[in-house]
Amino acid sequence: MARTIIVSNRLPVKVQKNDQGELQYKPSEGGLATGLGSIYKVGDNVWVGWPGLYFQDENNKKEATARLKDENMWPVFLTENEIKLYYEGFSNETLWPTFHYFNEYALYKKSYWLEYQKVNQKFCDEVVAVANPDDTIWVHDYQLMLLPDMIRQKLPDASIGFFLHIPFPSFEVFRLLPWRRELLDGVLGSDLIGFHTYDDMRHFLSSVSRINFIGNNHGQIMRDRRTIAVDSFPIGIDYDKYAASAASPATLSREVKFRTSLGDQKLMLSIDRLDYSKGIPARLQIFDIFLNKHPEYQGKVSLLMIVVPSRDNVEKYKNLKEEVDLLVGRINGKYGSMNWTPIHYFYRSFPLEDLSAFYRMANVALVTPMRDGMNLVCKEYIASKLDKHGVLILSEMAGASKELSEAIIVNPNDKHQVVDAIYEALTMQEEEQEVHMSYMQDTLKKFNIHHWVKLFLDRLTLVKDNQKKMA
Ligand code: UDP
Repeated sequence: MARTIIVSNRLPVKVQKNDQGELQYKPSEGGLATGLGSIYKVGDNVWVGWPGLYFQDENNKKEATARLKDENMWPVFLTENEIKLYYEGFSNETLWPTFHYFNEYALYKKSYWLEYQKVNQKFCDEVVAVANPDDTIWVHDYQLMLLPDMIRQKLPDASIGFFLHIPFPSFEVFRLLPWRRELLDGVLGSDLIGFHTYDDMRHFLSSVSRINFIGNNHGQIMRDRRTIAVDSFPIGIDYDKYAASAASPATLSREVKFRTSLGDQKLMLSIDRLDYSKGIPARLQIFDIFLNKHPEYQGKVSLLMIVVPSRDNVEKYKNLKEEVDLLVGRINGKYGSMNWTPIHYFYRSFPLEDLSAFYRMANVALVTPMRDGMNLVCKEYIASKLDKHGVLILSEMAGASKELSEAIIVNPNDKHQVVDAIYEALTMQEEEQEVHMSYMQDTLKKFNIHHWVKLFLDRLTLVKDNQKKMA
């Protein structure tokens, strides 16, 4: 019986060492872990990935391996140096900026590339150690772009799917990478290649045609007498989880507490990881322009800005943190009064109950990334609005804008357009808010994370069946 093997950089648990040196296992609560939970926990299926800890001791490795195996996980142990060069280096300093159109930030270092190849090979060895020849293997994301073809060389009959969780840039940007052909060759080892949006898929097909000289027929690529399908599969959220959390007593009591300290001000919300792709400084400048243009809103509206620390040992991110700190200080210093703080800024992460309370309270969600594969925060905001009151302002550069056309869609570079969108959102009648919210909720309820997983895996089965028929 063929099994399904999920492969991603990280396992859905984080292994940690406590003060006594004992290993602890903390499950990840991310959407992907939830969505794929229904897959990898079943039968002999397994999830292969890095457990998030550097292991020095062989006994610890053995202990972790046994424990993870009991829960259908297979660890790929990586060293500190491998993480530095393959993950922080090639993945986050070469691929991430390029794929988010920040190519002037990209570093093209041979040492990063060599390690990226080596670590992808290491993942391949582990997958081959667990997989049977006809298993279904679903590889996730930009850290593992070489893996599909590496697996194909060892297991020619496997069903291999690849999903990219970040944008795929236009050919003119992708071509800048010195290793562009190798990266595409790696992905083309798959039978099914998925992206969040139609545009990402189009950009990928165009790069394959310009770089690998392989054309396509309505998203079908022919390679080594194998038909590969390329399509868009916009990822969804665990809708019921966010709707239930928004109704929970813990969330409600936090909302009461936060509301009491805020008074009757209107609230705008932004939540992001600290990342240059999220457009945080531009958003702060927009809020500054708004308060200047609409002084009647001074003292009446606050921006609750949550920035989750991320990649803080990468230089670009340290600089960004300083820029954000400076801008927040400047705006609060310029407009603030004894009883009003324009920006409530938190540089840390929050538990779900707090996030749900923020989502419930926010009159407006200001989601204005410069570029985002999908953006889940805007979807979680919609799912949390049980009374359907609230307005979403959404960047057209986020994948989610393709599905959430009922939001106020903006170009984050057009600051005056976003300022006008804020005004429109703050003055929108509740009846109109409800109409937009209902549409978006219906969409997100239907196309949830479980739907996404099923759609991708069913399609992979179909692609493979068709290949067999053609053989
Ligand atoms: N998030 C979180 N803790 C926080 C703030 C945010 O776990 O304190 C979650 C948020 O609920 C969302 C995710 O982080 O699920 C961010 O996903 P998104 O796609 O918006 O951006 P990414 O960080 O993946 O680029």
